[in-house]
Amino acid sequence: MLASCRRLEPREFPAARALGLVLASPVRSAGDIPPFANSAMDGYALRSADVAGVPSKLHEVGVVVAGDPPGTVVVGEGEAARIMTGAPLPAGADAVCMVEHTRSEDGWVMIEEAVARGTHVRPQGDDIRAGDEVFVAGTCLGAPHVAVLAAVGATKVLAYPRPRVGVLSTGDELVSAPGPLPPGKVRDSNRPGLLAQLRSDGFEAADLGTVADDARALSRALTEAAEVFDAVLTSGGVSMGDRDLVKVVLEQLGGEQACWLQVAVKPAKPLAFSTVGPRGVPVFGLPGNPVSALVSYELFARPALRYMAGHTRLGRPVLRAVCDEALRRQKDGKLHLVRVRVFYGEGRDLRARRSGGQGSHQLRSLAQADALALVPDGEGLDVGDQVEIWVLDLGALAAAG
Ligand code: AMP
Ligand code: MG
Repeated sequence: MLASCRRLEPREFPAARALGLVLASPVRSAGDIPPFANSAMDGYALRSADVAGVPSKLHEVGVVVAGDPPGTVVVGEGEAARIMTGAPLPAGADAVCMVEHTRSEDGWVMIEEAVARGTHVRPQGDDIRAGDEVFVAGTCLGAPHVAVLAAVGATKVLAYPRPRVGVLSTGDELVSAPGPLPPGKVRDSNRPGLLAQLRSDGFEAADLGTVADDARALSRALTEAAEVFDAVLTSGGVSMGDRDLVKVVLEQLGGEQACWLQVAVKPAKPLAFSTVGPRGVPVFGLPGNPVSALVSYELFARPALRYMAGHTRLGRPVLRAVCDEALRRQKDGKLHLVRVRVFYGEGRDLRARRSGGQGSHQLRSLAQADALALVPDGEGLDVGDQVEIWVLDLGALAAAG
């Protein structure tokens, strides 16, 4: 599936709007950061040689504040200038003594602490030098990156756009309208869930509504979606039922490209995939069972969409946890993805417990899970066994506060 997805064409974005995007070309700095040597403290700029022996009484020759142009004040032998944090270091000075270690009176200042050359001075270019490659291509831009871009004066970046993903549900039993459920119907939860998940993963999601279990309607909906979007997600209609038509339609539309799979995982067994249309738009036919739909998205669609968006790390953070309860299972040839809560135990070890029922229709336990625990085929795991977890919600591991 990854092999049939392509990275999206990079575009220029305003740096201030680039949060979460991946750089398609490196960013270089035009100038030095800091742009001039300046003080890291409020205090006195002086010559370190004058304060080798303290206390030392220096003649106060001026004041420099942040925003003053460099060179307005010169510090000579036996002299000091009052200086504020961020103000340019006066010519002649080579160190700053914190105001806390000084006493000022009648045009003189008493320095009570010896300071070595360079103390509390932030040299020009100390963080970034002119011409430096600040960020390499492939960097995912977080909030500090946006701050750095602003600091170096980069107003635009070349980045991969967010994939635009259309989402539709299939099933004659689905209801989206509010109010009482008609007999035999269920509310469509996959579409809102997938739309929300896409947005929380930084993709652009479009709601394409519900399509009936009708081959012609499905074929039209998928063909149209493949003209507009970078990828399409459907749910339902990929299993063994008489009305499971998504797999049939994808085979008609995709031909050789189409595949229909029984994946050896639980939940999330059936899956259909194909590229559709002249643009080769990937269509992920996710299963209908609510947990299977979202877990299949995790396993197959999310990594592919992240690839299209330029990411190199495609999966979730992987950690190891200790089983806080036994995670028993039957041997069935499948990898079980168990919805778990994680927490730190008394020994500060990461521990995992089931977040609730594990049926593929038991959606609430997915909402209450922090991670998926990978329980390999066999009899399962005992209390105290190690288990690999894919972290869905890093917030669950947050520091107190
Ligand atoms: P299917 O694979 O289409 O046979 O669907 C499998 C199960 O998932 C059935 O119980 C469906 O009613 C249910 N289902 C399918 N699509 C949705 C949806 N969008 N929201 C909630 N449940 C669904
Ligand atoms: Mg169905």
